[in-house]
Amino acid sequence: CDAKRARRSFAFYDPEQEAYSRNQLTLMGDLREALAEGHLLVYYQPKVKMVDGVVHEAEALVRWQHPERGFISPGVFIPFAEQTGKLRAITEWVVHDVLTQASAWLNEGLELCISVNVGVSDVEDASFVSFLEMQLAGCQVPPQNLCLEITETGVMRNPKELMRNLEYLRAMGVKLSIDDFGTGYSSFAYLAKMPVHELKIDQSFVMSMNERFENVSIVRSIIELGHILGLSVIAEGVETEAVWQALAVMGCDEAQGYLIAAPMPAKAFSLWCRSDSRLHLPIPLPNMAEG
Ligand code: C2E
Ligand code: MG
Ligand code: MG
Ligand code: MG
Repeated sequence: CDAKRARRSFAFYDPEQEAYSRNQLTLMGDLREALAEGHLLVYYQPKVKMVDGVVHEAEALVRWQHPERGFISPGVFIPFAEQTGKLRAITEWVVHDVLTQASAWLNEGLELCISVNVGVSDVEDASFVSFLEMQLAGCQVPPQNLCLEITETGVMRNPKELMRNLEYLRAMGVKLSIDDFGTGYSSFAYLAKMPVHELKIDQSFVMSMNERFENVSIVRSIIELGHILGLSVIAEGVETEAVWQALAVMGCDEAQGYLIAAPMPAKAFSLWCRSDSRLHLPIPLPNMAEG
């Protein structure tokens, strides 16, 4: 019987799986070190108003410069941090870094609302709400200069429980955005009650708008839905002028994407804001039908 078990476990031994587990374990230790040693850094990507091309917001996107492995994308380490209960530490580090930067920019006369991506596990926790209150006060940043982006999938996982903290944050003055909209399963009943300011159309619909015609209809429906609910609608992943034009005609409020600028380090971002590079974008014509 023992031999049988041994044979069976031998049959299940998968060197690739073991290498993967060992890799994940190392990564977890490295993530702890990254936070302690300052290997994480925040990039900023402008969010632009479509009517006049003005930048009044930016999204903070974390990057990991690993000393041996090089650059690790947040698309890889954020889900990993979430699974291993390490997300909160990252979120707190990002919030502190962003508010310190926002405060410095405010003193230089650059007033921006900065969006931070947060996990639903962060927002579900009441102690995170008090952490935010303390950080905003400590850094002397007005709450309306901070926006939290939560994915649609996260918001709809447990909307009833989440509502209370979101309402508290909204009353504090913090802005709220539903990220990657269109990829989750929204209950319209909850969506109508969500105390959020913004819907962010997922880039998968936006990027391929000109190749896949059905995506134009999806994007148009999301814009209409957002407006019916009194929300501002932003499209992410705007890469071409053709897509910008199409969004402008549909009355999309804001845009974000490589066409405008890729995410960049804080210093480059503030220089970019002071340059006029953004003014070369086509500005939509006023909508005559509504005039
Ligand atoms: P997201 O919040 O939906 O961010 C948009 C992603 O699209 C970013 O990738 C951004 O660099 C990329 N992007 C922006 N414009 C374009 C474009 O025109 N075309 C294309 N193809 N991509 C564009 P990034 O920075 O790799 O982040 C990936 C995801 O990782 C984010 O998706 C977000 O869910 C997560 N993330 C990033 N930073 C943080 C963070 O500080 N905390 C948490 N919890 N999640 C984060
Ligand atoms: Mg986001
Ligand atoms: Mg997104
Ligand atoms: Mg995403």
